[in-house]
This record gives sequence, C-alpha cells and structure tokens, in this order.
Amino acid sequence: MPLSYIYTGFENASPLDWEVEADGTVRVSLLYDHERSSPNRAAGHWHFQLHTENPDLNPDSRLKLILENFDNIWNGKPGSPVSDRSNCFISTDGQNWSALPAEKIGGNRLQIQIEMTTDRLYLARLEPYRLSDLENLLTLIASHPYVAVTPIGKTVEGRRLELVRVGRPDAPYRVLLRARSHPWEPGGNWLVQGLIQKLLDDTDLTNRCLDHYCVYIIPMASKDGVARGHTRFNMMGVDLNRNWEQPADPNHAPENLALETVLDNMRDGDNLPHLAIDLHNDNSGKIHISNPVSNPQPYLANMQQFEQLMRQHTWFTEGSIGGNYAPAKTVSGFRNPGTFGEGLLQRYGIDACILELNCDWIAGLQKVPFGRDWELLGQQMCQVFLDYFSLRNLT
Ligand SMILES: [Zn+2]
Repeated sequence: MPLSYIYTGFENASPLDWEVEADGTVRVSLLYDHERSSPNRAAGHWHFQLHTENPDLNPDSRLKLILENFDNIWNGKPGSPVSDRSNCFISTDGQNWSALPAEKIGGNRLQIQIEMTTDRLYLARLEPYRLSDLENLLTLIASHPYVAVTPIGKTVEGRRLELVRVGRPDAPYRVLLRARSHPWEPGGNWLVQGLIQKLLDDTDLTNRCLDHYCVYIIPMASKDGVARGHTRFNMMGVDLNRNWEQPADPNHAPENLALETVLDNMRDGDNLPHLAIDLHNDNSGKIHISNPVSNPQPYLANMQQFEQLMRQHTWFTEGSIGGNYAPAKTVSGFRNPGTFGEGLLQRYGIDACILELNCDWIAGLQKVPFGRDWELLGQQMCQVFLDYFSLRNLT
C-alpha cells in the first residue's frame, strides 16, 4: 500500500517529519517542544492524516508505521511517554474513533499496523478534543441562566482564555477546575464537558448540586499548544503546571497570569474556591496530593475524603500519591514542587490537587479510555462534590 502523503494542515495536528523506507514502512518522527532555561523536552502527542491513492485498486491495504522521538526529558531526567499499553486511535472523519494497540519496539519506538480501507485516515494518540469542540460546547451552554462565560486573558499567541461558571455565584461552596494545561492531554476537556452537561440536566440530583456548589472552569489553558498539536509547553516554553510557588511571568506565562488574576479577585471578594483540581493525563491515573510544609490538617483529611468519594461514586480506582495519609507509604515522599496543587495550597490556602487520568487503560472499567469514558467520570463527579461539601460542614 503506497502512502502518498501525511497531512498536518489542520487544528491540533502534530508537527512531524516523515519518510517511506525501502520496504514501504512509514517512519514518523515527532518533533519535541522544549522548556525554556531547562533541559526538559517533550513529544508524545500525535495527530495526523494518512493519504493513499486508489485503495480500491490496491490488493494490499496494509500499512506499517513506526513512530519515534519519545526520548523525553522530564524534571531533568529521561522519561518515555509510551509503554507496552499504548494505543493509537483511528478515524475516517475525525469524529468517530476506534482504538488499535500500538506496539512498543526497540529504540523507544511504537509500531502501528493499519488496514487502509479508505484513502484518508486520521491517527491520534488519544481521542482528540480541539478548540472547535470547546467552541461548540460553549455555544451550546452560553445562554443557560446558570452559565457565565467570562474572558480572563489571552494566550501567548493572543487566543482568548475564558472562565466558565456553572451554577449560582451565591452558592455556599465553590470548586475550581482547570483542564488542558498540557496540550497533549485531552482527558480533562472530556471530563469537564461531561460535568457541565450533567449539572445542567435539570434533575433532582443536579438541582441539589447547584444549591450546594458553583463550579468555575478554565477549560483549556494551553490553547496555543492544542491548536498547534504540541505536547507539553506553552509557546514561550513554559510548563503551565510548574512555577506556581511564585507569581506568573506576564510575558512567558500569560495563561497562568490570567488564572492568578481570577484567584486574586476571588480572594479580594472573600470567595476563593474551597477545592481546586488540575486535570491531566499520564500513564497511571492517580490523584497527586500536596505535602503542605506546615499545618497539613485539615488539607490531608479533606483530600482523603475526596479520594474516598471518588472511589465511591465514580469509576476511579487508581489511588493517590503524595499526602501522608496515602496508604502506599513507599511513595509518600513524592513531591512535585511548583505544581498547581502545591501553589494554590501554599499561596491561596485552597485545598488543591492534581487529578491524572490514565491515558492507556481505565482499570475500573477494564477498557481503553475514550472521550465518553472521561465524560462519564465528569458526570459522576457531580455527586462527589455534593457529598464532599455536605460532609465537610464548612462555615
Ligand atoms: Zn499533564
């Protein structure tokens, strides 16, 4: 099956180089994005479209691809974003996706075998969630009386950043969620989409939720990276989930400055969130709990409660790392300084954590994760927040 072209001229397509070897194998070399003033680099997102000519006339429809350049550097150390459980998603129309196994082979590469039955086929690391998907969601909900979409700043490249409020601003409790601080990680976008749609479904349960709490969402923090199909850093080489121990650099990280300004205004109005969660994808899917330098209670008790409610009401089973209450003492020393979780806790006193969503496998459902699975998690989290605030008895 001859490949005629790899097309990347669309939203969220990944930058790459490619060539066809003598035996017909297609070698796809992803491009790294880099962190400024740091050895860190990352590649791991792929999203492109294969073009072939006349598949009907060609008796051999098989195509072998090798993906390479997964030699990432993370926190100054080598790390690979792919594993024996990696998948590749395929779609003919960019909307309906299915998953294939991607086999890890020598040299930290992935081998993908494809049956080309059409002349155009999209491939992606995960089921994509693009800026246009977010725009569709915002259009759908914008006129709802419980929704407010407020512009809060711009990305490095001038894309609008928004804060989405779902609920009544005078509800007794507030939750803040941020999704997509790392461009390759669409899981958080699917989760907040599920959560928002559930909260607006006008049932007894969700009306009780809206009586108790109001949700504030930064739905897509790294819009430039999502548009350009980058992996981890913003266009100035900043990791938006680092350096939260200090004020954001307005030139290098306007995306974080926008969120800080929101938090500063909330603090001035004495209405900071009671709980904040940064949503990510990784290969293990745990809650990352901070280790407060002083006065760890009631933070750790609240996080323990949150984890327990996640296990009770959602498909989440992966557990946590970090906080000293965590049962796995072997990892209790885990610390990732400067993350959203640590920064919001230290600087604003907000109970904050990171929720990673395993990109390869959902243990609680025994399946490869699709967008709808993360939407389901968001739907189920309505009840988690309701119980969390009902049990906490905050004043
Ligand atoms: Zn991440």
